[in-house]
Amino acid sequence: MKVHRQSLQHHLPALILITSIASAQEMVKPSRPNILFIFSDDHSSAAISAYGSRINTTPNIDRLAAEGVTFDSMFCTNSICAPSRAVVLSGKHSPANGVMDNGNVFDGTQVTFPKLLQAAGYSTALIGKWHLKKDPTGFDHWEVLPGQGDYYNPDFLSPEGKKRHEGYVTDITTDLALDWLESGRDQSRPFLLMCQHKAPHRSWMPGLDHINDFDDVTIPEPETLFDDYSTRSDAARMQEMEIDRHMYLYYDLKVTPEDREAELKGPDRWTMGAHGRMTEAQLNAFEAAYAEENAAFHAAKLEGRELVSWKYQRYIKNYLACIAGVDDSVGRLLDYLEENGLAENTLVVYSSDQGFYLGEHGWYDKRWMYEPSLRMPFLARWPGKLPAGKRDAHLAQNIDFAPTFLDAAGVDVPEEIQGHSLLPLLSKSPPTDWRDEIYYEYFERGIHAVQPHRGVRTARYKLMHIHGLDQWELYDLQEDPQELNNLYGVEGTTEITADLKSRLERLRLIYGQTEVSQGE
Ligand code: CA
Repeated sequence: MKVHRQSLQHHLPALILITSIASAQEMVKPSRPNILFIFSDDHSSAAISAYGSRINTTPNIDRLAAEGVTFDSMFCTNSICAPSRAVVLSGKHSPANGVMDNGNVFDGTQVTFPKLLQAAGYSTALIGKWHLKKDPTGFDHWEVLPGQGDYYNPDFLSPEGKKRHEGYVTDITTDLALDWLESGRDQSRPFLLMCQHKAPHRSWMPGLDHINDFDDVTIPEPETLFDDYSTRSDAARMQEMEIDRHMYLYYDLKVTPEDREAELKGPDRWTMGAHGRMTEAQLNAFEAAYAEENAAFHAAKLEGRELVSWKYQRYIKNYLACIAGVDDSVGRLLDYLEENGLAENTLVVYSSDQGFYLGEHGWYDKRWMYEPSLRMPFLARWPGKLPAGKRDAHLAQNIDFAPTFLDAAGVDVPEEIQGHSLLPLLSKSPPTDWRDEIYYEYFERGIHAVQPHRGVRTARYKLMHIHGLDQWELYDLQEDPQELNNLYGVEGTTEITADLKSRLERLRLIYGQTEVSQGE
């Protein structure tokens, strides 16, 4: 004790000196930006008007596009929830961060960008969906949904334990985020706020304020809703994610059974868990929103393509109504920044953990390296630092999020991070040696029966290897953007196939880590 006190006294003058130097630097150095990262779950860029949606409008997310940069070639490395989140935090592909599938636990002792920002003096918070099993690390404050969380009256976990909030999850997540901005953060320091929504994840339960938004419209069907998967590998036919055959009337589509006393089967039983959390008033309003259409559905006894088209409409309307809630949240957060003088010095990013099938190929869900689930929305606004209304087509991935945030904050990017900051791409002289290919690998086996596969995508081509079946798919995305015409083995593709195979093998050795046994 005595020694400790002496040592403190010994260092006291030096400490004072360091403090005064730091204050002087602070005065001349431009202040570091705040970072607001708004991250939703399963939001396809095809359902964002800034990305040319044919099916909805997202006026608040579009504000970011008008005032910032929209990335048109942002891709995930592994199209599923927990792995994408681990990639975002670590800046590394799945084998390097240890979360290959939704069953893995994230090792919170590894380097993450929130931990580095926290160490650099940021006030950090995480609100909403986490989905990485262990308690978050790197946050001064966190309130997260357990697992997938609930749409109505969700529980939130925090270091103080579990607390149930009455209301709709997107609104509550936004309220908690705004509460922290208003009174939770240390206002003397820059902040990192990660506001992570559950919506629009399955089972697509809209808030009561948007539940009837799409009642009077017919949403256009995707051209590939009735895809027959000819030319594709066997994997495309082995999946279990079709609107036709793998969607549940009650759980997914809110069609109340005619016989309410009948025993519910399969996932339809899960409906009772979601309904059991609702207040009587919420449940009554929720069921009433569908009652008239449900009665008409039962009377119509649809079959075949008519039934698939009906299910598509019900599915997509619920999905889009969930997104309307997320868009409201973006609006509330942007308004708060503007009303409190924070907009100018805050980098705001909107993204989602992967894309999603909105009926393309007859599917819902994600997982595949095909474009609808490979693409991620990514819009960034930082007034005065990033151009307004710009689109960027560089090939980017979620490994680039962490280094981008660190770069914006002026924090060194550790060697082990595999991604690169996107900020130089937006400078007056963008780098000329940026990547010209991206690597993808999906590992999970089980739900939805999608075969593990890996692949490489360039600006024009995509090669996929479904290694368990040893089958290949090759697409010319310029000629065939919907990926309906597998060119693998077709005359005239020998050269491009060899080039892509060589790229894939090189990338697999860097990022794929053959010693990882999963997926082989
Ligand atoms: Ca997801």
